[in-house]
Amino acid sequence: MSAAGARPDPRAQGGGQVYRNFIGGEWVASESARTTPNLNPADTREVLGQVPLSTAEDARRAVAAARAAWPAWRSTPAPRRGAILFKAMAIMDAEKEQVARLLTREQGKTVKESLGEIQRTINILEYIAAEGRRIGGQTVPSELPSNFCYTVRQPLGVVVCVTPWNFPVAIPVWKMAPALVSGNTVVFKPATLTPETASAVVSIFERAGVPRGALNMVLGSGGTVGNALVDHDDVRAISFTGSNDVGAEIYSRGARRMARVQCEMGGKNPVVVLSDADLELAVESSAQGAFGSTGQRCTATSRVVVEEGIADAFVERLVARAKRVRVGSGLDAATEMGPAVDRSQLETDLKYIAIGQEEGARLCGGGRKLEEGALAHGHFVEPAVFDHVSPTMRIAQEEIFGPVVSVIRVKGFEEALAAANQVRYGLSASIFTRDASSVFRFVDDIEAGIVHINSGTPGGEAQLPFGGTKATGVGPREQGPTALEFFTEVKTVYVDYTGQARKSSMY
Ligand code: NAP
Ligand code: MG
Repeated sequence: MSAAGARPDPRAQGGGQVYRNFIGGEWVASESARTTPNLNPADTREVLGQVPLSTAEDARRAVAAARAAWPAWRSTPAPRRGAILFKAMAIMDAEKEQVARLLTREQGKTVKESLGEIQRTINILEYIAAEGRRIGGQTVPSELPSNFCYTVRQPLGVVVCVTPWNFPVAIPVWKMAPALVSGNTVVFKPATLTPETASAVVSIFERAGVPRGALNMVLGSGGTVGNALVDHDDVRAISFTGSNDVGAEIYSRGARRMARVQCEMGGKNPVVVLSDADLELAVESSAQGAFGSTGQRCTATSRVVVEEGIADAFVERLVARAKRVRVGSGLDAATEMGPAVDRSQLETDLKYIAIGQEEGARLCGGGRKLEEGALAHGHFVEPAVFDHVSPTMRIAQEEIFGPVVSVIRVKGFEEALAAANQVRYGLSASIFTRDASSVFRFVDDIEAGIVHINSGTPGGEAQLPFGGTKATGVGPREQGPTALEFFTEVKTVYVDYTGQARKSSMY
């Protein structure tokens, strides 16, 4: 069976096949005839399929299916729900090569990066599936004799997961798996740029045995489908990952009707390099952090804050490293960096490369749109390094989401820390130094949800919380032991076995 399961293969139809929604356990056509093409960003002449621009009514049907499926799913024993996720993990493992190629063709990252994302997803499934045997509350002593007090965690009901295109396998799974294991039913609204990968993920859950209606997917625009889901009274919670503009909109819409909302948004992640650092290690980690996944990671390295004494040597090596990055189609095994995901992201990258120059930063190489030979039909850009960037420049403040890195020169640790913290975001940060005291001062005072010591800003493990502070994130952390907090609520239980009217200090 194909990774996309019951959904027909669009490539067999010359790209004319319209993707389907998944509602109530069926792959169904949207009621809308409007579509937008799904293009390969490495060669936009290749049309992979047509994405339906589903209607608000399609979205409402998905919520109704999720609502109908909830009573049975919430009363399915949690270990049984976990067992279904273990099955999903096994299917994903068996199909990883296939899903990786599909992801690369649709999103652009290299196959190696796609396989890395899928392995991370497998790890997440392994961890979250086991929550089926772990979800618990607390028992605490009572003030009174012959009384027993405890808490249980219970599901919310119908929850909506809205996800971006940059990790179209991992992010949906790190939301949907904890939502499902804790007994919620889900409506999934994937990014319009990655519908086929989203369908493959849903198909894996379907074949793993998630019952009809417990997981639904609606393709279509954020404006129409997204708003209809966020505003629906039967939706108890919305877990969102994406840009700050959209996150702010969803957060305030949800607040109006008291829905629970979790948002993970932008980053402007700094690497601090002190003069005693292992320079080679710092250069290589910064390059991988800045240019890996074409800079389209929320944890990408976008600023490197370097002590003046080593700045010339650092920049020289980083620029040389950037020049060696092989840019091309992610399907080509020799490629190190794939294309930008679409024309709009490419234009954003090029716009910021122009802005940096206008602001007076020094572009030390890279930054051109690449259109030679095989690259002519894709959204390719050279990795770019800016030196002499001041912390207040737009290229040092605003998320670019492309392979553009800004070097900020500073006089010492205090100035480095201040520069690193001088942004609205707070996702990931790292420091390169051999000095233990600087390490611990950095850990204490850096404004970030994730801190790396002597390794780059991306990366993380499935059994640890993931997320950011300040403008990056609101709501409990995703993944790891905190993953279920958002998708459950606590019920407090008092059991009085005295047989007498209760007397407490309250009355
Ligand atoms: P985006 O434009 O905000 O879109 C994210 C999702 O929201 C998409 O599914 C989008 O649908 C949907 N959407 C748009 N408007 C909506 C609305 N009014 N109501 C409900 N849903 C709506 O983000 P993106 O361009 O896909 O992803 C890039 C951003 O994600 C970057 O800012 C990056 O930092 C962030 N990100 C953060 C993390 C993290 O954990 N902190 C991880 C990864 C990415 P359409 O696709 O149809 O527009
Ligand atoms: Mg977008």
